Amino acid sequence: MDISGATTTPYWWDAVDSEVSRRQLSGDIDVDVVIIGAGFTGLWCAYYLKQLDPGLNVAIVEKSHVGFGASGRNGGWCHAEYPLGQGQLAEDHGRETAIRHMRALFTSVDDVGRITAMEGIDCDYAKGGVLSVARTELQASYAREEFAEAESFGLGPEDIRLLDVEEATEMLGATDVIGGVWHAHGAAIHPGKLVHGLAAAVEDLGVTIYEDTEVLNLTGGTVWTKHGKVRSDMNVLATEGYTSQLPGRARWIVPLYSLMIATEPLPDDVWDDIGLSDRQTFTDYRNLIIYGQRTADGCLAFGGRGAPYHWGSSIEDGFDINDDVHSELVRVLLDLFPQLSDYAITHRWGGPLGVPRDWRPSVTVDRSKGISWAGGYVGDGVSTAHLAGQTLAELITGTETERTTLPWVNHSWPKWEPEPFRWIGINAGLALAKSADQSEQRTGKHSRKADLGLWMRGRSRRRV
Ligand SMILES: Cc1cc2nc3c(=O)[nH]c(=O)nc-3n(C[C@H](O)[C@H](O)[C@H](O)COP(=O)(O)OP(=O)(O)OC[C@H]3O[C@@H](n4cnc5c(N)ncnc54)[C@H](O)[C@@H]3O)c2cc1C
Repeated sequence: MDISGATTTPYWWDAVDSEVSRRQLSGDIDVDVVIIGAGFTGLWCAYYLKQLDPGLNVAIVEKSHVGFGASGRNGGWCHAEYPLGQGQLAEDHGRETAIRHMRALFTSVDDVGRITAMEGIDCDYAKGGVLSVARTELQASYAREEFAEAESFGLGPEDIRLLDVEEATEMLGATDVIGGVWHAHGAAIHPGKLVHGLAAAVEDLGVTIYEDTEVLNLTGGTVWTKHGKVRSDMNVLATEGYTSQLPGRARWIVPLYSLMIATEPLPDDVWDDIGLSDRQTFTDYRNLIIYGQRTADGCLAFGGRGAPYHWGSSIEDGFDINDDVHSELVRVLLDLFPQLSDYAITHRWGGPLGVPRDWRPSVTVDRSKGISWAGGYVGDGVSTAHLAGQTLAELITGTETERTTLPWVNHSWPKWEPEPFRWIGINAGLALAKSADQSEQRTGKHSRKADLGLWMRGRSRRRV
């Protein structure tokens, strides 16, 4: 499995028109709502704005093309996860509120499937659930803890199941599997097809998407782009990890890179070994997160953390490719599935996701300033961005629903530390996670390093 011949664009982009194909903004315009960023957050917000008020004049300005950001690059896990886990949500807001938020996330997974079917968006949606396998006794104890916590929030077998060795290996034929947890509320999707299908759907509803139109600055009421000004009653910032590049927002959210690889299509007999017959997405309980999915056309898309944080929250195209991290992903993939050694890695890529300082996502509408935003999903943004976009649209149109009182509404984040503390802290956290994995693998015991790392706060529940 050699990475040197792999294409360096996302696997998902092969199936869609992944270039600028829409017009730029040319000159100044007035609209009711302008959305910055054509990813899941911006597009779902536009979709629901037009559902709630078809007369609204909505424009989206995108610096590159639809799906250029994380929405066109991710692992395609459409799952129900709060970045810090259910326990933290309950500690922050109380048990009942935490359960309400959790149920809204469950519904969001189903809504993505329901609405894409209704709109004729073929995004390979398959609700096979999420499988977390345990490959050591220590990991099995993490699985039991996770299951016990879920039960304490009233979840039952229709939501989550603790798997014994037979059940787990039947779902995933990876090496050393001794058990695991299966979560029902998760679907595998093709992110490229979803984001492009959604863009076409909002255009059918009358939304204009301007591509190749970078926003240089914004205030409530006005957005300045390279090609003209957009005046509106409400700006919606839907730029997730990229928000750090806007003036005055460098410490607002950290862009953290997640990297992926994809294999060539694998033959049926290999899939007979590996399993994932319902296209369950999968991970295990290591500290430095890995995630995979069996794609609808029989490839294995596999990703993980470990790419460094870049000084000053910078984002560059070159950061998408990292030989060390991509090679490590291949090593881990072969450790899980040695039978893949004869198959080619056809694609490798990466991209930035957004991490707020307190790891708590937010959906915020400031009517007095005319600015809204949603994000900070910490790598759990596929179905969460749907819920966020829907909630933004409800808040902007003044529509009261059960979502508009969820605890993340109008949550404000503390700022990240200035450099060099940010660089030191984040990269130390990543190094600790890696070192904790090595130590846990060696000793079979929980490593304190995992607790020290900033990134480990939601260890057993994190999917990035
Ligand atoms: C490799 C990877 C794997 C991931 N895997 C998963 C997963 O399996 N499951 C999951 O739930 N989450 C996953 N995530 C996270 C998830 O993809 C994101 O949380 C989600 O897509 C965020 O959507 P968004 O629309 O808010 O942001 P984005 O999709 O990042 O969209 C932001 C858009 O804003 C545009 N933009 C930025 N700056 C400007 C500007 N100045 N002017 C105009 N436009 C601008 C960008 O070009 C981009 O198109 C992953 C992320 C990555 C990078």
